[in-house]
Amino acid sequence: MRHYQAVLRLDTRNPPGNEHIVAEYVKQVLDKEGIPAQIVGSDPNRPNLIARLEGNGRRRPLLIMGHSDVVTVDDAKWKFPPFSATRDGGYVYGRGTVDDKDNLTGALMTMLLLKRLNVPLDRDVIFVSESGEEGSTGVGIGYLVRDHFADIDAEYCLAEGGGVTRIGGQVKYATVQTLEKIPRGIELVAHGISGHGSIPLKSNAIVHLASAVAKIGEWRPDVRFNETTGTYFRKLAAISPPDVATHYHNVLSTDPKVQRAADDWLLENEPRHSSMLRTSVSPNIFAGGYRSNVIPSEAKATLDVRALPDENPAKFLEEVKRIVNDPAVDVRFTGQNERPAGPDARLDSDAYKAIEAAGTRIYNAPTLPMMSTGATDMAQLRARGVQCFGIGPAVDFEDAPKGFGAHSDQERLLESELHRFVRFNWDVVTAIAGAK
Ligand SMILES: [Zn+2]
Repeated sequence: MRHYQAVLRLDTRNPPGNEHIVAEYVKQVLDKEGIPAQIVGSDPNRPNLIARLEGNGRRRPLLIMGHSDVVTVDDAKWKFPPFSATRDGGYVYGRGTVDDKDNLTGALMTMLLLKRLNVPLDRDVIFVSESGEEGSTGVGIGYLVRDHFADIDAEYCLAEGGGVTRIGGQVKYATVQTLEKIPRGIELVAHGISGHGSIPLKSNAIVHLASAVAKIGEWRPDVRFNETTGTYFRKLAAISPPDVATHYHNVLSTDPKVQRAADDWLLENEPRHSSMLRTSVSPNIFAGGYRSNVIPSEAKATLDVRALPDENPAKFLEEVKRIVNDPAVDVRFTGQNERPAGPDARLDSDAYKAIEAAGTRIYNAPTLPMMSTGATDMAQLRARGVQCFGIGPAVDFEDAPKGFGAHSDQERLLESELHRFVRFNWDVVTAIAGAK
């Protein structure tokens, strides 16, 4: 709790980040315990920290990570100041409590305990606190993979992206992120003739763009499953109440009509699950025009595309062009905030089995592999052949809709679940890396 509160109180909102304050704090903690650590970075204000406990080298290393930056805050929305780490009513409040200073603290505590108890290891355990996860990966994982890959290369990695779901205060299931969608922004640029607003033109760029965006909004790309999502929906069906389970079951159906009905239900009621079924497209920026009496010659919309990891980008772009079907509208990738695609972590690996076993032992809960719709720093590692698993503490299902989730106006974690998560983290790491 002391380390958790300490890192929560360090204001690393990104931008600007200033992650050096976390790196320095963690370094000082590790130094005191005699754990070698280095601070590395391309920007002195935004470095990363790498520490390593050596094993006997019988197996390849295990990497455990947490990112040190957090998203920005609107101070006025917080009951307790966002960087106060206030403890109240069994919760700890603060930006980063569930994204990602929970994982950072869990991994740090595991390092300290491994060292204090002098645990014999078959694998090196590498701890990384990386900067820039929230939209500026160039200083963080991008830099680490490019300039320090030898220092972080591992067979397995544990990071953020999974978690344990409580409903009505009861733990229902644990998810492990074994795969994630890949952001591939697309922009639509409509071109027309500019002119006086009093004389409407057929080529009006805003009208063409509006029509293109409307077509995209109606479009639902094909449903496609992979090992992770197939297993996820099958397992979710097995543990859900019958009325909901039917939809999870039916969405896997080979009968297109049955599948479509379940797909409709998910889109309406569980949009996150709908997004897991396909490469999703959400038009999120619409820009054009600057005066009410001027017909603009250009208008632009930006689509947030979250691709299934096996999606062929060039083919998908052609598909978008076919849907837009308007020569006045250019369709192209933005090339911004992209992450590389990589294969899913294997569900038959000893790491996955260890996580599953810890889920049973610590939470008495079934474990579901999950593909996250959002992106994490594991993308860069998966692309380099590291098998990555996203884990996280238990949170109440009801908490995010109340505005206490990751990136929400407020953020909090149950104290008891921080402690349980540290235990889980310890269990998983010792099972994967401990000497057999
Ligand atoms: Zn995060």
